[in-house]
Amino acid sequence: MTPPQEAAEARTVHVIGAGIVGVCTALYLQRAGFTVTLIDRDDPGEAASFGNSGSLGTASVPPIGMPGTLAKVPKMLFDPLHALVLPLWYLPRSWRWFLHFSRNSRRSRVEVLAEARNRLLSHTYDAFDPLFKDAGAEDLMQRVGRLEIYESEASFADAAFGFELRRRHGVPMSELSGDEMRELEPDLGPGAVKGMLYSNVSHTVSPLRLTQVLFQHFMSGGGAFLKEAVTGFDIGADGPRRVLTEAGGHEVDLVVLAAGVWSRELARQLGTRVLMESERGYHSVVADSGVNLKTAIVAADRNISITPMEDGLRLATMAEFCGVDGRPDYERAERIYKTATAILPGLKTEGGTRWYGPRPSTPDSIPVIGRSPHHPSVLFAFGHGHLGLTMAAFTGQLITDLAVGREPAIDITPYRPDRFE
Ligand SMILES: Cc1cc2nc3c(=O)[nH]c(=O)nc-3n(C[C@H](O)[C@H](O)[C@H](O)COP(=O)(O)OP(=O)(O)OC[C@H]3O[C@@H](n4cnc5c(N)ncnc54)[C@H](O)[C@@H]3O)c2cc1C
Repeated sequence: MTPPQEAAEARTVHVIGAGIVGVCTALYLQRAGFTVTLIDRDDPGEAASFGNSGSLGTASVPPIGMPGTLAKVPKMLFDPLHALVLPLWYLPRSWRWFLHFSRNSRRSRVEVLAEARNRLLSHTYDAFDPLFKDAGAEDLMQRVGRLEIYESEASFADAAFGFELRRRHGVPMSELSGDEMRELEPDLGPGAVKGMLYSNVSHTVSPLRLTQVLFQHFMSGGGAFLKEAVTGFDIGADGPRRVLTEAGGHEVDLVVLAAGVWSRELARQLGTRVLMESERGYHSVVADSGVNLKTAIVAADRNISITPMEDGLRLATMAEFCGVDGRPDYERAERIYKTATAILPGLKTEGGTRWYGPRPSTPDSIPVIGRSPHHPSVLFAFGHGHLGLTMAAFTGQLITDLAVGREPAIDITPYRPDRFE
C-alpha cells in the first residue's frame, strides 16, 4: 500500500454512506493520514453504486438538461417506450426541482455547466488510477471506449450541440458510419446508422465488485466500518458532536455526508436544503444475451446503455421520478430493453435479472461538493446524478483537500451546497 501522502492532524473522520463516492472519499482521507470510519446501514456498494452502467463517462460533458429538452418532454411522457417517467401525483413534490432544471437548460447555463462538469471529468483517471493500482482493481476496468449509436441521420444531427460541447472541451471522439461501427462490433445490425466513438471512456465489468475491492483495501489500511442506519445528529455550539444511529450514537470530529440521494434529508437536518431527486434507473443483466460486445454502447435514440460485464450483458434505462420509495415499473423497463433489438438483432433479453436504484440527481447536473454552510466540520459529497461512478475518486480528493485545510485542486464554487437557496 502507498504510504499516506501527508500526516493530517490527529483527527478522525466519519463518512456517512459506503457507496462508490463514500468509499473513494474514505480511501483518500485515509491516504492523507486520517483515521476514518465508514457508516452504512447496508453492505458497501449495494444502492445506486450496485446497478449503474459501469462507465467512467469522461465524455459526458453536456448536462442532462439541454436547449430543446423541455420542448420534447410532453411527447416523451406520452410515449410508453420512452425512458422518462413523471407521474402527475409527483409534480407537487418536485416542481421546484423541475423549475431549476428548466432554467439550467438554457444555452448560456449549459455552457457554464458543461465547463463545471468537465472540470471534474478531466480528473477522472488521475484520481482513480492510484486507487485502482493500490487496491489491485485494475483488472475490473476495460479501457476500450464507448460507442454512441444513432439510428438516423436526423437524430445524429439533433445531437450536434452535445458533440460541439465535447469537442470544445477536448474530448477525444471519432464519427463512424454504420459500416465502420459494424466492423468494430459485428453484432450490430443495419439499424445502427451513425455513431460516435469516445475512446477515452472505460467501463468496469462489475460496479459492485469495484466498490467492494476498494472497500476491502480501505479496511486493510486500518479503516473501520459501522453497519448502522444514521438517523440524525446531536448538534452542539461547534456543530455535530455525535452522529446518531439506530444503534445509538458516535462522537464525531469531522463528518462527510456521502449518502447518495438520502443525503437530502440528512443535509436538511443540518440546516441546508438541497434540490436533489431520485432519478430512478433500471437494469437487467442477461447472462445468455446472444450478442458479444467489446465496447460499452449507448443506443442514443432509445436511452439504453448496454455494457458487457462479467456476469452478462447489462442493459440499463429509465429516468423515473416518483421518489425513492415509489412503486417500480419493471414492465416498462423491459419493454424498452426489448427495443434494443433494432440495433442488436441477435439480442435476447429473456431470463434477465431485475434491478432499480436512485441516481442522486440535482437539477443542474453537477454534484454538491463543499463545506456545509452552517457547520464547518461537515463536508458534503453527493448529488452526482448520472456520473457518480465517474466522479467518485476526484470527489474524494477534493473532500480530502477541504479536510486537510488546503486549497482544493480546482475551484469548487460551482458545486457549493447553498446554490439552490
Ligand atoms: C441505471 C443507472 C446507470 C448508471 N450509469 C452510470 C455510469 O455508467 N457511470 C457513472 O459514473 N454513473 C452512473 N450512474 C450513476 C451512479 O450509479 C451514481 O451516481 C452513484 O452510484 C452514486 O453513488 P453514491 O455513493 O453517491 O450513492 P449510493 O451508491 O446510492 O450510496 C449511498 C449509500 O448511503 C447509504 N445510506 C443512505 N442513507 C443512509 C443512512 N441514513 N444511514 C446509513 N447509510 C445510509 C446507502 O445504504 C448507500 O450505500 C448510473 C446510475 C443508474 C441508476
